[in-house]
Amino acid sequence: MIDKSFHIITFGCQMNVNDSRWLELSLAERGFVKADTADAQVVVVNTCSVREKPERKVAAALADVRRVTRADPKVLVAVAGCVAQRLGEKLFSPEGQVRLLIGSDGLIRAPEAIEHLLAEPDLRLSLLDFTDRYEERGRMRGASGPVAQVNIMQGCDNFCAYCIVPFTRGRQKSRAAASVLEECRARLNEGAREICLLGQNVNAYGQDKRGDGVTFSGLLACVAALPGLARLRYVTPHPKDMGPEDVSAFGDLAPLCPRLHLPLQSGSDAVLKNMGRKYDGRDFLNLVERLRKVRPDMALGTDIIVGFPGESEKDFEDTLNMMEACEFVSSFSFCYSDRPGTRAALFPDKVDPAVSRERLARLQTLQETQTRRLFAKRVGQKTEILIEGRSRRQEAGKTSWQGRDPYGVLVHLALSGNTDYTGKMVPVIITQCKKHTLMAQQAGGLW
Ligand code: SF4
Repeated sequence: MIDKSFHIITFGCQMNVNDSRWLELSLAERGFVKADTADAQVVVVNTCSVREKPERKVAAALADVRRVTRADPKVLVAVAGCVAQRLGEKLFSPEGQVRLLIGSDGLIRAPEAIEHLLAEPDLRLSLLDFTDRYEERGRMRGASGPVAQVNIMQGCDNFCAYCIVPFTRGRQKSRAAASVLEECRARLNEGAREICLLGQNVNAYGQDKRGDGVTFSGLLACVAALPGLARLRYVTPHPKDMGPEDVSAFGDLAPLCPRLHLPLQSGSDAVLKNMGRKYDGRDFLNLVERLRKVRPDMALGTDIIVGFPGESEKDFEDTLNMMEACEFVSSFSFCYSDRPGTRAALFPDKVDPAVSRERLARLQTLQETQTRRLFAKRVGQKTEILIEGRSRRQEAGKTSWQGRDPYGVLVHLALSGNTDYTGKMVPVIITQCKKHTLMAQQAGGLW
């Protein structure tokens, strides 16, 4: 075991990835070094329980940590995120290595708690309390890279019937606009060219009483005006909170990319009502139309839950029809599963899992066909790629790089020379489409 070493295992969404990155940099600032699980003195499992599968993966990961570290009691294991919040002190098994639980609001105190627990091997700590306000975590020093993910809020007030987030991440707390802008400026000064604003319900920013009066569209405009910013994105918005000013921002703010992940969840009005989503199919289509009026090239992605309790074949067909009408370029889709503590877990009329799986397969086939068709249209088009790093695809005599176009699609291209092109913007022509990615050729000078 290496003294003052750590290993972080991360499951789940971009917010979890960002939380893990913050913890990693904070531990590094305190003199900790990264190590493999087998050598680490501290192992953090940052978890997600939005879906059932990740929760099972977490149990498997903890068993794996135990096996790899030979259940060494000197290894401090911490469980962070949604599973820690949901299962709480049940995770402290008597013989277990788990001695620290970190909720989303407790993360800020985790580095100090880790040092404390290393000095006190018989102690256990639980940092699961929710705070009233968004607590500033301090700057992520050294978080380099061309794309900066910046948290602007924590939690959610929506209580969709199937979702555990309001219980595991707490009620919505908007971060002060001045702090968001300060972090964005710092990340741009460190070399970032793209900023992605993160929040569980990102476009409800400012609607809670904990904010400072700045609205989401106001914040977007301020971030978009920062010197050095080439691209701006945000994730994940709620369709019901997309106000007219959020739609027009796609026409008004040059850095705001024409790509939006807009969770539909279902195309059936009855299912949407049972889910508590507070919009119906007509509202959603109307929003899509307004977005495409402002940006005809708007690329939309979505989330779909298949087999929500009570979903009939007709409801499911409404979802398929909506997928086609909205022309989603990509979607995350999965079969509904009960999350303990949510309203939907108590709903009758559970859909037979075999029926859900069959529907999911049909939906995913439709998405693949749609993606292929939309990608094929891109061949021959000019666009710009922000290089994020080297690609594993290689071409003789050239190094292959990968990055994203303004529509958020991963693009591979070969560039000559041994220069590190990370963070460069490259004009390209799309030459080929694959199942999930595009291939391109350089078509102009880098900047
Ligand atoms: S808006 Fe999103 S995070 Fe909030 S409860 Fe609904 S699904 Fe969960």
